[in-house]
Amino acid sequence: MQATANEQTIRTIVQEVLTQLTTRNGAGAKVNGSAGPSPDTRWGVFNTVDDAVEAAQMGFEKLSRASLEDRKTAINIVKQICDEQAEELGRLEFEETKIGRLEHKIGKLKAIKGVPGVEFLRTDAVSGSQGLMITEYAPFGVIGAITPVTHSLPTLAGNFVNMVAAGNTIVCNPHPSGAKIASEGVRRFNKAIFAATGLENLVTIIGTPTIESAQAVFDHRGVKLLVVTGGPAVARAALQSPKRAIVAGPGNPPVVVDATADIDNAAKSIVAGAAFDNSLLCISEKEIFAVKEIFDQLMTAVSNHGGFRLNAAQVAAFTAKAFGAPKEPGGHHVLNRSYIGKDAAWLAAQIGVNVPSSTLILYGETDEFNPFVTEEQMMPFIPFVRANCSDHAIALAKKYEHGFGHTAIIHSRDIHTITKMGRVMNTTLFIQNGPCMAGLGLGGEGYLSFSIATPTGEGVTSPMTFTRQRRCVTVNDLRII
Ligand code: NAD
Repeated sequence: MQATANEQTIRTIVQEVLTQLTTRNGAGAKVNGSAGPSPDTRWGVFNTVDDAVEAAQMGFEKLSRASLEDRKTAINIVKQICDEQAEELGRLEFEETKIGRLEHKIGKLKAIKGVPGVEFLRTDAVSGSQGLMITEYAPFGVIGAITPVTHSLPTLAGNFVNMVAAGNTIVCNPHPSGAKIASEGVRRFNKAIFAATGLENLVTIIGTPTIESAQAVFDHRGVKLLVVTGGPAVARAALQSPKRAIVAGPGNPPVVVDATADIDNAAKSIVAGAAFDNSLLCISEKEIFAVKEIFDQLMTAVSNHGGFRLNAAQVAAFTAKAFGAPKEPGGHHVLNRSYIGKDAAWLAAQIGVNVPSSTLILYGETDEFNPFVTEEQMMPFIPFVRANCSDHAIALAKKYEHGFGHTAIIHSRDIHTITKMGRVMNTTLFIQNGPCMAGLGLGGEGYLSFSIATPTGEGVTSPMTFTRQRRCVTVNDLRII
């Protein structure tokens, strides 16, 4: 497909900015003859929440006066930087966070071009004998975004596309272990956007974030809306905030495989989803409940698609390494965080098992009480539990999804079983006969977001998620028919 003139202009600007970043060391450089931000602001990276919010507020005021074309240009710049610099940025994220798989870090950045932008905005209208009413979808202002270490820059970039499309600006408190790559993205985005449009600080970020700075973002009067993407602690903190919060919280996605399933497709899909970025995705297949009729067949099929099966003794040894005992009776098993997002071969080596470096996942049979079933593990060991029948499998899936309302997956050709599970689970994503990524438009229908709002119910976030409704009414006029 031929690039449009606009795309070519953006590409030129992105290239110029990249050259300046590498030759002049960034901050304060002049772009296109106009002075950029002072050296203190470093293209959107700030030391304090107050400064970051103030800059994002000024950015919002300028954005409010800008055209929709400028918004589109800013969004296209972010998409283009993520696409064209994916190898470099993905490697930086991988080196900083030390979790996941490099090729998937790159893939997630390239996928940002699939996140919806300004084209998703709409205006609703009612025309009647008393005149005209329109509903406009207006921005909130400065949005406070909290992002996870599992996809630091992809979440920030995806949030940017959605939120700026809706006319907002962002102050981001990234996860401390992914703050360098997030800050690098912010610098590159802001610098290229300023060069193309004159808009500044559409996204600002706390360069050295802490839990305290996250709390300061929660509490800041200049922040009009919170959008939190992360695990249980931050989800709880956001839900307790007096401010409106959109919470993309944790999951523990179960997979049911019944006797009617295409077993080879089920095995292939489970491996593809669970192996993606070494199981870091909140939507990825975390525990499998397969009915006894096809259980052994499924176990064999998984090894045909890149899985390495551990025997019972190896599963027990590995579980003991990956989890500590609960701190109090009946509490959560304590996840060994140094195992998160590591390669299957590295994990196997921790119990003295050598597996080919091409191994995508480790897996084995467990009972339902194994901590790999009960906890969100975020590493490529997948427990398979034998169920008596599809009703039993669905009941186990319900129990171990823990009511997060996040993601559930089924492999079945029985529409009644599929329907039953969908109703019982009541999750935000319900995927049938494919890998988890299909639920986010990657191999299935629909669009992509890295923030899936679960407890607060907004679902797969889009630009419309970050708008407030405004009704404009004209009495007795403007009905022109
Ligand atoms: P995390 O909860 O450790 O960190 C997320 C963010 O919250 C970080 O920026 C962190 O600094 C901050 N934070 C943590 N505790 C906090 C507290 N008490 N108060 C304020 N801020 C706090 O999560 P993580 O390990 O970075 O990411 C993995 C988790 O995120 C998993 O549970 C995963 O399911 C979830 N997740 C959900 C989605 C979704 O769209 N629903 C997307 C990605 C990740």
